[in-house]
Amino acid sequence: MKIAIIGVGTVGSAVATAVKNTGFVHEIVLFDRDGVRARAAADDLGHAASFGFDVKITAVSNYRAIRGSDIVIVAAGANQKPGETRTDLLTKNAAVISDIIPRVMANVDSKNVKIIILTNPLDVMVMLAQKLSRLNPGRVIGTGTMLDSARLRTILSRQLGVSTQSINAYVLGEHGDSSVIDWSSSAVGAFKLDDFCKQMKISLPQSTRNTIAHRVRNAAYEIIRGRGATWDGIGAAAADLLRCIINDEHRILTVSAVSGTGADMVAMSLPRVVGANGVIATLRPKLPASDAAALRRSAKIIRKNFDAI
Ligand code: NAD
Repeated sequence: MKIAIIGVGTVGSAVATAVKNTGFVHEIVLFDRDGVRARAAADDLGHAASFGFDVKITAVSNYRAIRGSDIVIVAAGANQKPGETRTDLLTKNAAVISDIIPRVMANVDSKNVKIIILTNPLDVMVMLAQKLSRLNPGRVIGTGTMLDSARLRTILSRQLGVSTQSINAYVLGEHGDSSVIDWSSSAVGAFKLDDFCKQMKISLPQSTRNTIAHRVRNAAYEIIRGRGATWDGIGAAAADLLRCIINDEHRILTVSAVSGTGADMVAMSLPRVVGANGVIATLRPKLPASDAAALRRSAKIIRKNFDAI
């Protein structure tokens, strides 16, 4: 399995590390418009690989060298500076995606390739990449709220005293400030969250849920304030998505992909079944009216930003 990573900055390098450590790929090619940075990353990662799985990691200076890649991960573009929102990156990163996708498509097998988008603002970049690539929408996938859902599960795990592995809880909508937590379908093991809390005598009132939602939405801002950027979480999320595709696992992940047509066309995160062909099915959670309205608002924000580019 050969994969290509386009953009080998903080995030691209973390993704390469996490992907290398899965042991599921035999070759990773790295492309960055800053060739010196890509070569340095390939050297460093290659040295690291000698301690683990035998993965060939090469920096490439042109897109022809990504030929044969089954999956292309796009992690290029401007990142948020402290205080910046993801949407602030819209114009800059639309130009980056517009530069990259046609070059990628000229060098991959369009019948087989899957493109994974990490660049922010994520959902709009997924829409743009899908439009430019003309691939089936299920094969242009953004990590979306996989990371936000992981942040939610981590906070809940500490609050409830159970492993993150036993918590099914989704963040839906935009990978951004308008995301929506689906509390109504959240579950611990096979128990509805409310039933679990009742049996365990744990109080999770609305005020606590609001605080949790705030922490989930602000996690990236806090991390950027503290360490300048975020990379470990997204690296692990991208590697997990890659594993799900490579192994045709049919897991339910909150990834972003384009659905709908015409004025209703939008990419946002919903629970989706993911396998070798990318997104295989999309599930529509039954939400209380206020959450359903918040999700519609989130979709509108994404669509408005897409229309603005
Ligand atoms: P970075 O500045 O460290 O690296 C970006 C890299 O992209 C640089 O090496 C740059 O040379 C390269 N690049 C820019 N334009 C390019 C082009 N046209 N072709 C090829 N390479 C190009 O930034 P970072 O911290 O690695 O963040 C990268 C992106 O990932 C940002 O948009 C950031 O917001 C996003 N991000 C997404 C998530 C998520 O959950 N989806 C999480 C963290 C960061």
